[in-house]
Amino acid sequence: MPSSPITIAIDGPSGSGKSSVSRAVARRLGLAYLDTGAMYRALTWWCLDQGLDLADQAAVADAARSMDLSLSTDPDTATVQVAGTDVTDAIRRTSISSRVSEVATNLDVRAELRRRQRELVEALRSSHGGVVVEGRDITTVVAPDAEHRILLTASEEARLARRTTELHGSSTQEQLAATRDQVVRRDRDDATVSAFFEPADGVHGLDTSHLSLGESVSAVLDLVEHGAPHRIPTPDPDLQES
Ligand code: C5P
Repeated sequence: MPSSPITIAIDGPSGSGKSSVSRAVARRLGLAYLDTGAMYRALTWWCLDQGLDLADQAAVADAARSMDLSLSTDPDTATVQVAGTDVTDAIRRTSISSRVSEVATNLDVRAELRRRQRELVEALRSSHGGVVVEGRDITTVVAPDAEHRILLTASEEARLARRTTELHGSSTQEQLAATRDQVVRRDRDDATVSAFFEPADGVHGLDTSHLSLGESVSAVLDLVEHGAPHRIPTPDPDLQES
């Protein structure tokens, strides 16, 4: 565990590798891991479960404020529970991925989830010595004072191919087309409320288009340890590709 508390904020679009990289970095440094996307997904699941109309902005914002959400911040498990129900797998389904932007573009929802995220980050700095927190607006809005702020980017082609392989185990032309909505359309909608394609001032940009998971993790660790990726990243044999 590092000697004084640290927050490592990692943003990026869908398929940039930020979840796998963030978990691996947290594991390596013995830090907690906070997946803010899981919070938006959990709220989407909860609203649909309760039969709410996602277009009813006030009702969805009320649900955000009253939701009983419990997140494990262990990078090895990272389970999610809503009102006592384990939704870890359910929130990754297409039925949630295809609707989550409707919830995430609700500004009252964002205010409430950001408040919860800041509280969690503060608590994890005290209890775990620090946290790797990933999302879309962490480097800019949730934790602009984080000790380390990194934006992972990747070409649209690379992001689509990664997400398709993740969802289907391979990436044929049909599968690529089916995944396009979950990557390109979702990012376009999400980008109406957060800026995560270009690094903000003081945020390190890291293009992972041609990096493996191990190489991306090494590059982020270099940034954290030295402030710049000043050596060619070498793959870590202990890390599996995502
Ligand atoms: O990262 P992940 O794909 O799981 O995020 C799911 C959704 O949550 C995103 O598509 C976006 O709508 C929303 N999100 C957000 N701000 C964050 C993290 C996620 O709006 N900080």
